[in-house]
Amino acid sequence: MQISDGIHRLGNGLVNAYLVADGGGVTIIDAGLPGYWSALPGELAAMGRNLADVRAVVLTHGHSDHIGFAERARKERGVPVSVHELDALLARGKVKNPAKGTGPVRPLPLLRFLALAMRQGGWHIDRLREVATFGDGATLDVPGSPRVILVPGHTPGSAALHMPDRDALFVGDAIATVAVTTGVVGPQIAPFTADADVALASLDRLSGIDARWILPGHGQPWTGGTAAAIAAVRESAAAAARGRR
Ligand SMILES: [Zn+2]
Ligand SMILES: [Zn+2]
Repeated sequence: MQISDGIHRLGNGLVNAYLVADGGGVTIIDAGLPGYWSALPGELAAMGRNLADVRAVVLTHGHSDHIGFAERARKERGVPVSVHELDALLARGKVKNPAKGTGPVRPLPLLRFLALAMRQGGWHIDRLREVATFGDGATLDVPGSPRVILVPGHTPGSAALHMPDRDALFVGDAIATVAVTTGVVGPQIAPFTADADVALASLDRLSGIDARWILPGHGQPWTGGTAAAIAAVRESAAAAARGRR
């Protein structure tokens, strides 16, 4: 579905992959779940593009529900895949997922997430055999020219990607607008976060960025501005901490 001018999304909003087009072709930001591969040609066609226009897959971090069809795109279509250097081993399946537990869980939303993952091939996700890396502050030479902002915490190499020309900030799982484990909606720290305190502190790195479209790995777009999103994440974290006391 179309999100904004030149930005489309694969998936129903629970697990997101984004397609960004410009004159040079298409960049895929996160590759969702493996089954999304079959929806890719149709979504590209809706943008007036096709598979041959895909220039890059850029991952916000190395979790499997973002790697999705990335290895297939690399192997079958020669599409280069990149991730922040601190998440490269995770994306290649060479280190264990650093996530500490799931946090709170509600059965029905969790089942919805697991059912989606099952339908979309999420039980077996090919880790990347090869992955290029980028560092903090880099501007990537791919369609959309995303600038990298390292926001560690969810994983060590979690990165937000800012596209000023598209007025968009792809936040990966640094900010979720739905928790797949509880169904709770609104800006929050994502489940499966390695270090929530570090993740909260990292949000300061996004506070100076204004983007109309804040696009998370899980949940619907946030259009209320970066400052309000960060404030909502902090409020949700504080409420969760009060709930634990
Ligand atoms: Zn994640
Ligand atoms: Zn995720």
